[in-house]
Formats: sequence, C-alpha cells, structure tokens
Amino acid sequence: MEQLPTLLACTQEQLAAILAEAGETKSYRVTQLAEWIWKKGATNFEQMSNLPPTLRRTLTERYTLRPLAVTERRVSVGGTRKLLCRLQDGELVETVIIPAALGENGSQSQRLTLCISSQVGCSFGCKFCASGLHGLKRSLSVGEIIGQIAVAQDEADDRVDNLVFMGMGEPLDNLENLLPALRLIIDPHALGISPRHITISTSGNVPGLKKLAQCGLPVRLAVSLHGATDEVRSRIMPVNRKWPLSELLSALEEWRAGSKHMITLEYILIAGVNDMLPQADLLADIARRLRAKINLIPCNPVPNLDWQRPAESVCRAFCRSLLAHHVPVTMRYEKGADIDAACGQLRRRTIERQ
Ligand code: SAH
Ligand code: SF4
Repeated sequence: MEQLPTLLACTQEQLAAILAEAGETKSYRVTQLAEWIWKKGATNFEQMSNLPPTLRRTLTERYTLRPLAVTERRVSVGGTRKLLCRLQDGELVETVIIPAALGENGSQSQRLTLCISSQVGCSFGCKFCASGLHGLKRSLSVGEIIGQIAVAQDEADDRVDNLVFMGMGEPLDNLENLLPALRLIIDPHALGISPRHITISTSGNVPGLKKLAQCGLPVRLAVSLHGATDEVRSRIMPVNRKWPLSELLSALEEWRAGSKHMITLEYILIAGVNDMLPQADLLADIARRLRAKINLIPCNPVPNLDWQRPAESVCRAFCRSLLAHHVPVTMRYEKGADIDAACGQLRRRTIERQ
C-alpha cells in the first residue's frame, strides 16, 4: 500500500491549512470536506461530488482516507466480527465489532461497540495474552487509531457509538497518539462519540494513568487487575513489578476522585493461578476501596501459552464469593472465542502462517 498521510487525523484547523495548501481558500470548503470525512464516511476523494474535480485530484495524490485495509474477516456465532487490518507499512492490527445486545457498558440505547487496538503488539508481556508474545512492534498513529473506527463503520454500514480500547497494545503506552485521537473521536464536528461511551483499558501503567487523569477527558477506565496480591499479579503481569499494587491502587483512588464513572476491574480467571477463593476476598476489598465493579473473564486459552480456563464450577464459586461481599460483578465469556477474538490471537495466527 502506498504510504500517504490520512485526513482522519486532522482537526478542522488542519483541514483548512491542507485546503489552503491545495489552493482552496473558500471557508465553506472546510465544512464540506469535514462532512464527507466524518458524517458521510467517504472512503475516497472522488466521492466528494460537491468539491471541484481538480481539488479532488490533488487530495487523492497527497492523502488517504483509509490508512488501513481489512484483509480478513471472521464472524462468530454470536455475531461478533473480528477484522484483521493491514496498515500501510504491512503491519497487522485487530479490531472487533460487537453487535448491540453484547455491548460492554450495558446501556440499552447503544447499537454498535468496537474494540480497537492502540499498538502493533505490546511490550508488557502479560502471561495470558497473545498480543505481548512477540513484544511491541510499534505504536499506532492517530490516523490508524481512528482508521479502525472508519473501516468498522464501512463494514457494519452503521455508526460506532461505544468504543473500548481493549484490543492489542497498552493504550497508556501510546498517550502521544491516544490523546489527539480521543479528542477527534469525542469532537462533535468529527466522530462525535460520547466520552461516557469510551472505555480505556490499562494494564496498570501508573505514570500514563496520572497523565490521562490530568487531561480531564471524561472517559471510562477499565483496569486489567488479574491478581489481588503482588505475588499473584506479578506472576501474571510483569508490569506489576514496575508499578506494584500499592502504587496502582493509589493512582486509581486519585482517578476515582476526578471521575463520575465507576472503574471496572477486569479479572481473567486462570486455573490454579488466580482462581483461589482467598484472592476473591482480597479482590472484593480492592473493589470496595475503589467503589469499582468487577468483570470476571474466564481465560481464553492461547496456543503455546499453557494457562487454562478454570472449570465452570470454579468460576461460579469465585463469582459467588464476590457477590457475597456485595460488590458489583459480571462474568463475561470472551466474545467470539471461536474466531480467536481474544486480543492478539488472530494477528498471531496470521503472522505464523506467513
Ligand atoms: N493493554 C490493555 C488493553 C488491551 S488487553 C490492558 O491490558 O488492559 C485487554 C483485555 O484483553 C484483557 O484485560 C482481557 O480482558 C483480554 N484478553 C487478552 N488475552 C486474553 C485471554 N487469553 N483470555 C481472555 N481475555 C483476554
Ligand atoms: Fe499488553 Fe494488555 Fe496484552 Fe498485557 S493484556 S500484554 S498490557 S495488550
């Protein structure tokens, strides 16, 4: 694919500058161009019928509206659709479209949830996760983050109205691009997705969390906890050795003070590693301290990673034990396990085939 910058990364002011550079100074052209990009979902400049043909040609030579192309689609029995997308430099990222009834935040009004990636690979190396197996290749650009939403909207022929950063990569390890992308995603003149329908999931990158909190964007936060003591968590997530639970929890308390949304604690249940009932008691203490809700996810086994999903009865006992502590808890089975939907699995299988 030819490497061209994308207008999906541009604010209105940047679009105005690009049009001026292309010799077009009429101010209403900016509105027309922005409408084509954001409201009408144009995939190429030739569709922009109210722009002069010479301008369309110049923009086609210089820019792209789709900095990634879908190379593989998998549809699960529940309707979850996984897209494998090729970036302009040939790298691959995964994006998952989750239809209405399965949406993450539970609201009735939402139609379409999208789980997007923030990096190619991941440097955090959690022991259950396919994304981190080959380390970090690179972070995604603003245009590549937003491009996933654009291609998903093309595929679904509908607008995404709920967004979760739970695909490949650690979003807070790419704040440089995440923050400008979020501003465009939220901007009513651009994508216009409500911040309360945007969830950033982090493995516990404490400095990143503090920076995100300082920005004051009213997005939701999910934290991949997966262990309620340093001993258990460090075994699963090397990041815990860098920022142990005490530091993470105090950063989360600070976050909570500045946010009106409940934090979600994600907890993958792994047989014999973190599914013991004393962990449930300690997890409940953490949830109460943070007034957070817990999302239990029975582990999706990844080939070559030997950790397994606990028996159904063990998952249920863990869940019951949390409920006995009166903390809000949901059990989520990884959507689309039949299509390698857990983070990083489809890309990994594709890389291994190549
Ligand atoms: N780096 C961020 C966001 C991406 S990973 C973070 O760690 O929070 C987010 C989620 O992917 C995990 O919390 C988990 O919910 C899911 N996930 C990854 N590998 C999985 C597996 N093998 N089984 C079940 N869920 C998995
Ligand atoms: Fe990276 Fe998140 Fe996977 Fe951990 S769970 S390796 S932080 S993508």
